Amino acid sequence: MSIAQQASEALHQIFGYKIFRNQQQQIIESVMAGHDNLVIIPTGGGKSLCYQIPALLLAGTTLVISPLIALMKDQVDQLLAYGIKAACLNGSQSPQEQQMVMKQYKQGEIKLLYIAPERLATGAFSAMIDAIPPALIAIDEAHCISQWGHDFRPEYLQIGQLKARFPTIAIIALTATADEMTRQDIIERLNLTQPQTYLSSFDRPNIRYTVVERFNPLEQISSFLRNQTGNCGIIYCSSRAKVDDMALRLTQRGYSVVAYHAGLSAQERANAQERFLKDDVPIMVATVAFGMGINKPNVRFVIHANVPRTIEAYYQETGRAGRDSLPAEALLLSNSSDFNWYQKVIDEKEAGFHKSIELHKLNEMIAFTQSQTCRRIVLLNYFGEHRHEKCNNCDICLYPLEQYDGLLDAQKILSCVYRVDQRYGTQYVVDVLRGSQRALIKENGHDKLSVYGIGKEQSSDYWISLIRQLIHLGYLKQNFSTTFSTLYLAEEARAVLRGEIPLSLVKPRLELVKKSRQ
Ligand code: ADP
Ligand code: ZN
Repeated sequence: MSIAQQASEALHQIFGYKIFRNQQQQIIESVMAGHDNLVIIPTGGGKSLCYQIPALLLAGTTLVISPLIALMKDQVDQLLAYGIKAACLNGSQSPQEQQMVMKQYKQGEIKLLYIAPERLATGAFSAMIDAIPPALIAIDEAHCISQWGHDFRPEYLQIGQLKARFPTIAIIALTATADEMTRQDIIERLNLTQPQTYLSSFDRPNIRYTVVERFNPLEQISSFLRNQTGNCGIIYCSSRAKVDDMALRLTQRGYSVVAYHAGLSAQERANAQERFLKDDVPIMVATVAFGMGINKPNVRFVIHANVPRTIEAYYQETGRAGRDSLPAEALLLSNSSDFNWYQKVIDEKEAGFHKSIELHKLNEMIAFTQSQTCRRIVLLNYFGEHRHEKCNNCDICLYPLEQYDGLLDAQKILSCVYRVDQRYGTQYVVDVLRGSQRALIKENGHDKLSVYGIGKEQSSDYWISLIRQLIHLGYLKQNFSTTFSTLYLAEEARAVLRGEIPLSLVKPRLELVKKSRQ
C-alpha cells in the first residue's frame, strides 16, 4: 500500500474522517518522505493530524513538544480515546508515573510522547532519547521559539539543538500564526534543513473586524455587550491591573464575568477557565496569558480593550472567535496612548536588529488600526496573502469613513476651549457645549457663556470624537498634569476660528460598536 493510501486509511478508520483538510495530505507525505516541514495553519485547521498520522505509520515513537501541560493532557486523552498509545511526561506527574512512561517508551509501547521543552534538558530524558531516538519530532506552537513571534518562551530555544543531535530525524514545526520574519526565524532557530513550508489561508471570513477609537472603554464595551446577550466572548486587556479593574466594573454593571491573568493562583486560573469553557460564565476578561490551546468553538466575540503589540498577536487572539464558522466579532478599541507606551518600552531597549524588528512590527500594528482600507485586506497582506477585493465584513467596508465640512463644529469647540480660559479638559468642554447642569459649571459661571449649550443636539461621544480629531490635526493641544489634563488652542486654531481655512473632519462613527450583528 502506498503512503497516501495508508494515510487515508488511518484518517478513515482511526479518526473517522472522510477527507483530508487544507494540505494535510501533502504535509503527511512530505513528513513521511523524511523532509523537515514548517506548517502554518490557522487554529482549528487540523494541524495535529499532520504529525499524528505519520506517528502511526512510522515505526518507533514520535516526540511532540508542546508548551502547555493542559494542552498535552487534552491531546493525550483524545488519542487514547481513538485507541492510540500516547503519553506525556511532565512535572505534574509523580516520579513513579514518569518512570513508568519512560519504561514504556524504551519498550516501544508509545506511538506519541508529549513533552514540554524543559524536559529536553534533563539527564534521564536525554539519555533515553540518545539510546532510542524518536521516529519523528513534532514541535507544536513553534512560534514560541522566535523572539519576534507573539509568545516567545525561552525554554523553546533548547529545541534548536535537536537537529544537531539527530540530523537524520525529520522535524515538523507547526504554528497558527507567523509572519514572514517569524517564519524565517523559526527555520533558523530550529536549524531545519531545506524545509518545506505549508501555508494555508489566513482568512477567517466569519470574523467581522471593527476598530474604533477608545475614549471611554467601559461605556464602549458595555454598549457592545448589550447587543451580545446570551453570547460568550473574551475581553483582552493589556495588564493584570486592567483585567481586575475591567472585571470588577463589568460585574458592578451586572455582567457575569471571570478574570484570568498570571497574577492569579493556578487554582483560580483553572477555575476561571473551566467556568468559561463550560458556559457557566459567558465573559472572560483576561490578559494574553489566556487562550493558547483553548478550543471553545462558540466564542462569539473577542474585544481588545488595548491594542496588541503586533498583528500576529492580534490575529491569534481574534482568531479565538468563531471557531464554529458562525458569525463572530472582533472589536479593537484603539488609542495612541497604547502605542506611546509600547514605543517607550522599545525605546529603552538596546539598539540593534531585534529592536528594529520590534519597531517595525509595532508600526505595522499602528498602521492597521489607522488604515482606511478594508481591514481584512491589510491583515491578509501582512501575512503575505495578497487580496484586493473588499471583504464587506469589516468596519471600513461596512461603514466607510465619511468626511464632512467640520468648520462650524470645530469653531464651536475651539471657542468653548477659549471661553473657559483654556483651563479645563475634554469632558468639561463637552459638558459646557452640551449645556450640562454640573455644579462646577454653574459655580464658574460658565452657564452664562455664549457657547453654553450650543452643542446640545449632539451626544457627548460625538464631541469627544471631534475634539480628538482636532488634537490629531494639531488645532488643539493638551497639557497633562498628574491629576488632570487641560485643552488649549494651538496657534493654527486662530485661522479656524476666523473661518479663514476650510476644515474637513471625519463624521464620528459612534454607532459602530452598537451596529455589530447579533
Ligand atoms: P489545530 O491544531 O490546527 O488548531 P486540530 O488539529 O486541533 O487543529 O483540529 C481541529 C479539529 O478539526 C479537531 O477536532 C480535529 O479532529 C478536526 N479535524 C482535523 N482534520 C480533520 C479532517 N481532515 N476532517 C475532519 N475533521 C478534522
Ligand atoms: Zn473589509
